Amino acid sequence: MAETVSEIVSLWTMVLKKAKEKLDDKTIFDAFFAASYIDHIEGAKIYVVVNSGLAAVVLESKYKDLLNECVLETTGTNFSLTFLKEEDVKKVQEVKEDKPAFFEHSTLSPNYNFKNFVVGACNREAYQASLMVSENPGKLYNPLFIYSNSGLGKTHLLHAIGNSIRVRHPNLRVLYATAADFIDEYIKFATGTKEGESLNAFFKDKVDVFLIDDIQFIRKKTGTMEAFFVVFSTLYQQGKQIVLTSDQHPNELNGLDQRLQTRFISGLTLDIKSPDLPTSEGILRSRIEAGGLNVADFDPEAITYLAQRFSSSVRELEEALNRLIFFTVNIKPSKHVTLEVAKEAIQGLIKSQDDQSKLSEEKIIATVADYYNLTPSQITGKIRTLQIAMARHISMYLMRTLLDAPFERIGQAVGGKDHSSVMSGVRKVEKMLKSDPNTAKAIKELTDRLKK
Ligand code: ADP
Ligand code: MG
Repeated sequence: MAETVSEIVSLWTMVLKKAKEKLDDKTIFDAFFAASYIDHIEGAKIYVVVNSGLAAVVLESKYKDLLNECVLETTGTNFSLTFLKEEDVKKVQEVKEDKPAFFEHSTLSPNYNFKNFVVGACNREAYQASLMVSENPGKLYNPLFIYSNSGLGKTHLLHAIGNSIRVRHPNLRVLYATAADFIDEYIKFATGTKEGESLNAFFKDKVDVFLIDDIQFIRKKTGTMEAFFVVFSTLYQQGKQIVLTSDQHPNELNGLDQRLQTRFISGLTLDIKSPDLPTSEGILRSRIEAGGLNVADFDPEAITYLAQRFSSSVRELEEALNRLIFFTVNIKPSKHVTLEVAKEAIQGLIKSQDDQSKLSEEKIIATVADYYNLTPSQITGKIRTLQIAMARHISMYLMRTLLDAPFERIGQAVGGKDHSSVMSGVRKVEKMLKSDPNTAKAIKELTDRLKK
């Protein structure tokens, strides 16, 4: 991929050379092509400066296919070309610097794509549908709704769809956001912190593909669900693609607005299952290679062992593999990873899982958030309304009593609070437990839920 100035210059020189060969008419080349150069490349778009308005029109209407072909032959990638006069370059840059009114921080992660998604029986349908949606956004399955337990690849697929659409349909504007982001934007707008363009107008004018992750978090939030319904309908009526993910089927999402439930299942609803053995093994092998290691250095039995032992989520599988690699590099350097080495490396991991039956800081935050009708990111965030602060303190208290976690670690888990604020948070809850029956009731119920 051309990145430095000299690479960009030489890329265009090669493209022009090919174009010249393909063109019969040398005067046309000299008049419209010869003086052109690349101003910049952005994602899958190449901005080409030409010497006149006429050249822009001629290249755009007559020679775009030819140039596209030359670009493809030179780079192996499909780019979209935009022809500009010198004076228009500035305008493009100004538009570029125009910050979006909403979702300023939502971006697509380039690390998640279709290529590095391992396909197997457990996820084939969701993968296929995602691929088809990215080929024909808004045309086939709208909305596409993917649900599964955590760690099985939903977020990965959403980003893969977004990245693929950016390349295949560079003129479509893609927005990836989590439901928590949507709630934040809605709150900012509803509380008047944000003025000007409405949330709905933003979607109507500026979004062509809406990828929304973890939609379960809007349950029970009447105002947000209302706003989401309006946005959903606006996009849907314009034939724009919507893809949603959730931890459950729409019909299982208690507290979800009936109208949303109906809309969500009106397109295509698919689940991802826990990885089957061949898929888990495939994921491990692809991760080993992605890490620059050699699969041949791992005994197949070692890979199978890991795949069998950690199949409930891909995230767990990755964690186990990382541990194994760490162990074979740092603790017991071994060039060849046998079954014995694998067993020894992950002994600790299995033990800690069994001990606490997977009770973790994240699980506590998720459970407390659910109990108080908040999102986990509100608990780990900076806002300190009474309810959020209370939920945060209760999370700290539960981490202390149920996990016996050190204050430092609790502080990190709730979004980087220091040792002393964790201590004072835990104390507050201890005090309230004695004086306030509601707190006592909440702690009891939360403890029951977490110990289940
Ligand atoms: P979810 O959103 O369902 O909780 P993620 O998409 O965050 O899960 O996946 C967790 C991790 O597992 C990510 O690192 C992701 O890249 C990886 N992963 C999940 N499924 C696959 C797969 N089929 N192939 C490769 N990596 C996967
Ligand atoms: Mg996810």
